[in-house]
Amino acid sequence: MIRLSNIKLPLDHPEAAIEKAVLDTLGIEKADLKDIHVFRRGYDARKKTNIWLIYTLDVDTQLNDRLLEKFADHNQVKATPDLRYHFVAEAPKTLTERPIVIGFGPCGLLAALTLAQMGYKPIVLERGKEVRERTKDTFGFWRKKELNTESNVQFGEGGAGTFSDGKLYSQVKDPKQYGRKVLSEFVAAGAPEEIMYVSKPHIGTFRLVSMVEQMRAKIVELGGEIRFSSKVDDVHLEDGQITGLTLSTGEQLHSKHIALAIGHSARDTFEMLFNKGVYIEAKPFSVGFRIEHEQSMIDKARFGPNAGNKILGAADYKLVHHCKNGRSVYSFCMCPGGTVVAATSEEKRVVTNGMSQYSRNERNANSAVVVGIDPNDYPGGPLAGIEFQRKLESHAYVMGGENYDAPAQRVGDFLKNKPSTELGQVEPSFKPGIKLTNLADALPDFCIEAIREAIPAFNKKIKGFALDDALLTGVETRTSAPICIKRNDQYQSLNTQGLFPAGEGAGYAGGIMSAAIDGIKIAEAMALSINASSK
Ligand code: FAD
Repeated sequence: MIRLSNIKLPLDHPEAAIEKAVLDTLGIEKADLKDIHVFRRGYDARKKTNIWLIYTLDVDTQLNDRLLEKFADHNQVKATPDLRYHFVAEAPKTLTERPIVIGFGPCGLLAALTLAQMGYKPIVLERGKEVRERTKDTFGFWRKKELNTESNVQFGEGGAGTFSDGKLYSQVKDPKQYGRKVLSEFVAAGAPEEIMYVSKPHIGTFRLVSMVEQMRAKIVELGGEIRFSSKVDDVHLEDGQITGLTLSTGEQLHSKHIALAIGHSARDTFEMLFNKGVYIEAKPFSVGFRIEHEQSMIDKARFGPNAGNKILGAADYKLVHHCKNGRSVYSFCMCPGGTVVAATSEEKRVVTNGMSQYSRNERNANSAVVVGIDPNDYPGGPLAGIEFQRKLESHAYVMGGENYDAPAQRVGDFLKNKPSTELGQVEPSFKPGIKLTNLADALPDFCIEAIREAIPAFNKKIKGFALDDALLTGVETRTSAPICIKRNDQYQSLNTQGLFPAGEGAGYAGGIMSAAIDGIKIAEAMALSINASSK
C-alpha cells in the first residue's frame, strides 16, 4: 500500500473528489487504482470562510513498487507503515502465578486485556461496581445528592473517563502506535469505525458504558477474572518485593506481579502505599473552574459561516495564556455540547468536571480553565498536594451551601470581583445545582489573579469567551494526580519490585488514551518479567 499525506480538499467536497485527488497526485489512470482507505481526516480552520479537510490516504494500485520508486524523494508519498500490534510475549504453558491488576479504568482495562490476549489470565480488582450499577449510583448522586463513596464518577468499572466526553486522542509520543491498538479494541467493542480516522475521535458517555462491558466480556472469555467491590486495602512487601495484597473484606491474594492502575482519586490508597514505604513524589497539577458558554457561540467563533457543518461537528478549542505573575492558565478537557458534572468521590466536597454524549448536542460548551501549580505551592511532603485539593474541595462545598451544589459566578462579575446575584443568557448545566456567589474566595489569590488575566486574553482568540453572562463553576481540582509513583526502566516501582505503577494515578498519563496506552506498556513489562522469573 502507498500512503498519501496532506491531501487537501474543500469542506463539503463531493465523494469523488478523493479519488480524483489520488489519481492526480500519483499521475495514474483509474484502471490502475485498486483501493482507497482513509487513514486520517483532519481539518484546517485557520480561515473560517475557507475551511479545508486534510486527508491521509492509504492507496492500493497495480503499480505500487513503481510509484514508490518514482516518488522516492517526495514527502507526500511513502510506503504505508505496518501499524499492526505485535504481542511481545506469550504466557508459559504452566502459569504458576497470575498477575493482578488493581483498578479497571482505561489503564487497568487495556493492561488486563493485553495480558489476557497473551494468555496470562489476569485477576482484576476494582473497588467500584460494574458499570450499569455504577451508572445508577452516579446519576443518583447528580439527581438526589446521595453520594456513594465507592461508586461514583471516579470509582467503578471503566474508571474516571466513563462519564466523560470520551475524547480518544492524546499528545503523548507513541512511536510504537499503541494508540492504534487502543482504538481498534474500542471499535471491536462497538465504537464507531470513524474513530480510527478522524483527527480528534471521541465516543461520549453512553457508548462508553456498553463498550466497557464488551471489553470486560473479552477478558473473561480469555480466562481473566474481574472482581468488583474489591478494594485493595493493603499490600504485602518482603525485602523490597511485592508478594500480595489484602482486600477490604480481609481476603488475601498472592502475586509477585501487580499493576497499580488506581487513577488520581484513590487518595486512601496513595496514603496506604506511602505508609508502607512505596516511593512517591509530589508532582505539579492544576486547579481552576469550569467555564460554560453557549455552544452556538463557540461554533461561530471557530467556524464562522461554516458553524453547524456536520463534518466539523460541535467546535472545540484549546487555549493557553502565560500570565504576568509567572503562572500559565490553560483550557482543559473541553467538552463541546456537554454538561458540567459533580465529580467528588469524598463526602462534603465539591469537584467539577465535564462530559458529553457522542452527539455533543447539549446547549452549552464547557471546559476547565485551570492554573498550573507545583509542589512549592503545597509544601509538606509527597502527599501535601492531596491535602491542598481537599481544602479547596471542602471550601467549595461550604460556598455551595453544604448540600453538593457548586459555587458559581457570571464571568462579568468574576472579572469585576463582585458576587453574582442572577444568571444571564448562559444556563448552568451542573447537576445537582449551583449557588451564585463570588468565586474570588474559592482558590488562592495567585490563581484568581491569573484566571482574571487569562479570560480577556482568551477572548481575543475566541470572540465571546469573556462574555459577561458566561458562567464559572468551581472547583476543578482533579486535573491529574498530585503525586507520582516513580518507576524504573522495567516499569516497576523504584523501590518495590513487582509493583507496576501505571496510568493517571501514578503520574504516567493524563486522559483516556494516554492511560490506555500506558496500560499496554505495563502489560508488556509484566509479561516479560513473569517469563523471565519463570525460566
Ligand atoms: P481511572 O480511570 O481513574 O481508573 C482507576 C480505577 O481504579 C477506578 O475505577 C477506581 O475505582 C479503581 N481503584 C482505585 N483505588 C482502588 C483500590 N484501592 N482497589 C481497587 N480499585 C481501585 N480524559 C480524556 O482523555 N477525555 C475525556 O473526555 C475525559 N473526560 C473526563 C470526564 C470526567 C468526568 C472525568 C472524571 C475524567 C475525564 N477524563 C477524560 C480523564 C480520564 O478519565 C482519566 O485520565 C482516565 O480515566 C485515567 O485512567 P486510569 O485508568 O489511569 O484511572
